[in-house]
Parts: sequence; structure tokens; C-alpha cells
Amino acid sequence: MKSVRTVIVNAKVVTMNQKGEIFNPGFVMFEDDVITMTGEMKDLKGDAALADATLLDARNAIVMPGMINLHTHMGMIPFRGLGDDCKDRLRVFLIPMEQKSMDEELVYLSTRYAAAEMLLSGVTTVMDMYYYEEEAAKAMDEMGLRAIAGQTVMDEGACDFKDPGEAIVYGENLIKKYKNHPRISACIAPHGTTTCSPDLLKEAYRIDSFYEVPFTLHTAEMDYEMEYFENEKNMTPVSFLNSIGVLGKETLAAHCIHMTDEDLDLLKENHASVAHCIGSNTKAAKGVAPVSGMNQRGIAVGLGTDGPASGNTLDILTQMKLCADFHK
Ligand SMILES: [Zn+2]
Repeated sequence: MKSVRTVIVNAKVVTMNQKGEIFNPGFVMFEDDVITMTGEMKDLKGDAALADATLLDARNAIVMPGMINLHTHMGMIPFRGLGDDCKDRLRVFLIPMEQKSMDEELVYLSTRYAAAEMLLSGVTTVMDMYYYEEEAAKAMDEMGLRAIAGQTVMDEGACDFKDPGEAIVYGENLIKKYKNHPRISACIAPHGTTTCSPDLLKEAYRIDSFYEVPFTLHTAEMDYEMEYFENEKNMTPVSFLNSIGVLGKETLAAHCIHMTDEDLDLLKENHASVAHCIGSNTKAAKGVAPVSGMNQRGIAVGLGTDGPASGNTLDILTQMKLCADFHK
């Protein structure tokens, strides 16, 4: 079958290639869904092959690679803005409301809404973690996102499973279901360092590592988390994760606000990566993660919006602005 040629013309093309080239005005040519050529508009003229191409005029627009949202909870759209600035809103508002009203249908609809919001702002790839992730995976697939559906597990049970063991089985089945999907994959995403027992963390890590999918969890984010590890274990959350053997190349630690130099060294040594959620962290006055220390060590750091209830936006451009401002 003959391929379909499409050319986006007259755009400001931000390539993000090794040379950091920007073509303005530039073009991007596709054969079906594969980019075959890009460059300055002046180099496109006179190409006879354009005759049967569909031209899309992107004057005044930027064409760039899709952005990645490395940490969010798409199912939390109904809770956006709820209890802002309330101390420990996770336990006062969010968990009780999830227990009471979150179900499959709400996760599905909320994820579709969140996907639309992200696609409109240029985000094409998402690391989601929430409950009923089979519904989230279905919604993200239908919306055309590239995504990882992280099934959240925690000791106390959640709105979808009272027994974390059942949540683990559900998560592993979801990983298997999407194993060969071109855009969607799944993983088990433990809630956090204090909301999951060491055994639960280890079991999630074992499964995620086996299938080579991310093992992602909230890390070194909360005041009570830091106090717990200091008082009860005389450790930091990161040194604790290392001590139970769940810090590795699959580990994607979200937040990492309260870090020692030794914690950063441990992330580097174990090839773990970080989701930096500057909007969420500063909105809740939790602090600013030491990103320059991560960069100095060559730790992989990406941006996340956190859930719509945490940062109130799913827009990565906003995170870029906050990231630049705060770290300066
Ligand atoms: Zn989060």
C-alpha cells in the first residue's frame, strides 16, 4: 500500500536533536506516522514529491517533540483544588474521599479528561499512578497517549482493593495484558516509603524488575515521612530503599525533596531516576528538590506535574518555568 505523505510547513521547528537545531520557518515531513525529513522551508521548495502530499500550515506555531509528564495521578481530576493548603490533606481529604467515591467509571472518565488536558498542552507521554489502572490504561490508549499505567498499592488498602496482595495480582495481570502494546505498558507503583511495608515494596520491585517496567513511588516528600525514618530507623527514605534492595535502574523516585549528599550518591550508584515535581512541591510548601546536585552527578531527572489535586495543573510548560525560576 502506498504511504501517505504529510508535511507541516511554516512552523518554528524545535528539533531537540543533538545539535539543538531550530528551523524557523521550517518543515517536518512524514510518511504515514514516521518523520522522514525536517529542515528550513527554503530547502523544501521545488520538491516534486510534494505534489501528492497533504500540507498543514503551522504558521505562528511551534512544532517540537511531545513532552513527558513523569509523575501524575490522572484519576484525581475531581479533586483538583480540594483542601488546598490544608495540613496533611492526603489523610484529611484525599484518601477518605477516594475510599468513599472513587470507582472504575470515575477513574476512566477522569483519565480521559486529564489526557485531553495534557494533549492540548503538548504532553504525549505519561507515567500515571493511581487505582483501577486497567480503566486508566484503556482511557489513555483510546486518547492516543503513550503511557505507563502504574497500579498503586499500599498496606492499608485503597478504594479498589482492601487487600494489597490482590492489588499486586491485578497489577501483574495488567503488566502482562499490555506487554506487547505499541504505546501502553503497565507497572506496579507502591504508594510511598511509609505507606507500604518493606515486604510489599520488595514484592512490587521484584515484579517490576522482572518485566523491566518502572518501579515508581513517592520518596522523601513528606515531613512525617522524614520524621518517621529519622526517629524509627535512623535512616533517610532513600537509604532505607537501598537497604531493602529496591533501588535500581527500574526505580523512578518521585519528588526526592529532602535529600542528603549520600542519598544523591545512592541514586547515582544504583542508576535510579527522579521525577521532579516543582509545582506540586512548592505549592504545598514542601520544599525544593536539589536538582543541581542530581545534575552534577548525572542522575536522570524529568519533570512531573503530580496529580491535578496536588499541583492544580497538568501542564509541563508551567513546570519548566517554575523549575528554571526556583533553581536560579
Ligand atoms: Zn504524586
